Amino acid sequence: MPAPTALPIWKIHADILRTLQVGNRLVLVAPTGSGKTTQVPQMLLDGGIAGDKMIVVLQPRRVAARTVATRVAWERESKLGAEVGYQIRFDDHTSVGTRICFVTEGILLRWLQDDSTLANIGAVVFDEFHERNLLSDVALALVKNLQQSQRPDLVMVVMSATLDAEPVAAYLNLCPILVSEGQSFPVEVEYLSHPDLRPLTLQAAEAVERIIHERNPGDILVFMPGRGEINGTLDALRGLRTQERVSCIPLHGELEPQEQDRAFAPNSLRKVIVATNVAETSITIDGIRHVVDSGVARVARYDAERGIGTLLLEPISRASADQRKGRAGRTAPGTCHRLWTVIGHKDREARNTPEIQRSDLAEVVLLLHSLGIREAATFDWLDKPDPQAVERAERLLTMLGALHEEQGNLTPIGRQMLRLPMHPRYSRMLIEASQRGCVPDAALCAALVSGRDLLARLDRDDAQTKSAREMFEDSEDSDFITLMRAYDFAKENGFSFERCRSYGINAQVARQVEQTFQQILNAAQQQRLHDRDAAPVSAAKNEEALRRCIMAGFADQLAKRRVPGRPECDLTEHRQGQLVRESVVQAATFLVAANLRDAPSRGASSLTLLSLATSVKPEWIAEMFPQHLSTTIEHLFDAQNKRVAAVKLVRYRDLVIEQKAQQRDLDPI
Ligand code: ADP
Ligand code: MG
Repeated sequence: MPAPTALPIWKIHADILRTLQVGNRLVLVAPTGSGKTTQVPQMLLDGGIAGDKMIVVLQPRRVAARTVATRVAWERESKLGAEVGYQIRFDDHTSVGTRICFVTEGILLRWLQDDSTLANIGAVVFDEFHERNLLSDVALALVKNLQQSQRPDLVMVVMSATLDAEPVAAYLNLCPILVSEGQSFPVEVEYLSHPDLRPLTLQAAEAVERIIHERNPGDILVFMPGRGEINGTLDALRGLRTQERVSCIPLHGELEPQEQDRAFAPNSLRKVIVATNVAETSITIDGIRHVVDSGVARVARYDAERGIGTLLLEPISRASADQRKGRAGRTAPGTCHRLWTVIGHKDREARNTPEIQRSDLAEVVLLLHSLGIREAATFDWLDKPDPQAVERAERLLTMLGALHEEQGNLTPIGRQMLRLPMHPRYSRMLIEASQRGCVPDAALCAALVSGRDLLARLDRDDAQTKSAREMFEDSEDSDFITLMRAYDFAKENGFSFERCRSYGINAQVARQVEQTFQQILNAAQQQRLHDRDAAPVSAAKNEEALRRCIMAGFADQLAKRRVPGRPECDLTEHRQGQLVRESVVQAATFLVAANLRDAPSRGASSLTLLSLATSVKPEWIAEMFPQHLSTTIEHLFDAQNKRVAAVKLVRYRDLVIEQKAQQRDLDPI
């Protein structure tokens, strides 16, 4: 293996150090594999750029933070967690002696809450900045703000392979840009001649087979959107008969660390690595000569209606496709097989939309408030978010009791919500649950919605699974309770794949739910919201308590059934919608829906579908409803000509909770 100093980035080593000795900002553009991630932090350390303080490298992905930290520690012949470490959510490999620390963006934002001056940090490196994650935009804006106001000694380096460097440099007050050309070899691109409607997994496997058949040497990298598709591709590859024995290796964030490392390990056979877009830029695997690109990725988007982020399958941008292609030409000429047509290519977006312009901003607005920044819409952003999305986030946070209704500042509830690693709706549910003695159930609800669907979609004709499913539907009060029952069943059966499948449960998802559930419980315990040793409440009482908690998180998604037994509902803000047929809540007049989405429909207006419903009682609404929502839901009550007055009740519950939180001194800020 050549010495790291042979990597292309070392040609501009002196320029990098000189720039940061005179100034405190730098934008660095160099092709993937040239040594940005592994070398630049070491250059800063050895060049004394951060003084005796720590160098923090922000990574958009957990897998990348871990593997690059491991690599850099190895290059420096030190133990991981000593001089070089990493920290990601629920996994901390750092020590007091750590000088280079790879972290995901959320970790830096958490540190900022603990120490708004980042006193221990001497340099922040924003790696993979072209990805424009919501949290990396937020981190960039906050660090810039901190540097200008209090920490001129703090060094900022923004790095990327494909970044449009000028706008970022302009945002950083025209800071210097350094470009390293690196070396790359030509890559021959091949498109489909006409659209192929067969599964992408099969198409990808066939493309791999063709490469092998043509006896083109070199390892093969296949890009797939997620774990399911990766496993599907591996299955399809097994089904094909290649003339050559190959080693097929999956690579994605949900694998165990040792399994992730297989992609990097030398292999006597030709490697076929099937990866998510973690291999697009963050991770470099040597020896790749061929890329097979599915052309799709799971993209997080915010559905303002639904109020929760979604991960949808979308075509990747042309910039991403070029990155993926580049992975084949690092060490020798290569080939890239795109599973779409030339015409399809022209229709693609040139670049990815910054996430800040397509996300739910509730968590970010809450975070900014905690740092004393109240005007999220007009804050000094690289790209401004949609003011409407900011307003919506502020309204939601006020309803949840996180922001003060008149002053607009953070309440004790809001501070507590910041300490819980989930969407504010679910943290609010958890805080409510701590008052009502049902934290484990609320935590389970949050865990159940945090990943993929636990229950498979029912086939109309699948009578067997359908009758099995009914076993979980013993409560007509909440779809959350059905999910909880299904999860309990999976757990009681040791998450057995076979048992779960016959009941339409995804065992892998159930396992993931179990992990997330425990992590949330730990966080709740740390916040003193939950005492693991407390005696459990009776089941019936618990169920009502849980329904009230769900309502606390989703009060703005209250619905009233128009006619008993019919799916049509009136919603807040004079919206209308339909409860899905699969919901167990078919009798109740009032309900809250944790899930609102627009169904495509004929005609001008789209149909809003309500799901994940929970029945609620009018008297709870009267008791718990925040005042400011009165106008938005009054019409629901007008229809029955009663309870209008009740809605006008003060947010008395919230006040009680606020006082209790203060008494217990939960968050001494
Ligand atoms: P960049 O960030 O510019 O894409 P990196 O610093 O990640 O580049 O990688 C530089 C080089 O270091 C790669 O070309 C590869 O040869 C090597 N490398 C990086 N990570 C690993 C690893 N985990 N195992 C083996 N080699 C690695
Ligand atoms: Mg890199």
